Amino acid sequence: MEKKNLKVDQKICIGCMLCNQIASANFSINDDGKAIIKSSKNLDEKKIKQLIDACPVSAIKEELCS
Ligand code: SF4
Repeated sequence: MEKKNLKVDQKICIGCMLCNQIASANFSINDDGKAIIKSSKNLDEKKIKQLIDACPVSAIKEELCS
């Protein structure tokens, strides 16, 4: 099975905190007002899709691990 990493593109995140509201255990906002992933624990495919769809600027991305 392919392993994927969830990432936030810090350059385009607008800090709206929607991801933090959907998955507060996984996302927080840093001192620059940008979302960071603090943990990937309990993030299943359904939740990941919800997060990617919810982000208004498409800053949340899934990338294949190398
Ligand atoms: S939903 Fe998107 S724009 Fe909003 S804080 Fe999260 S990553 Fe940033």
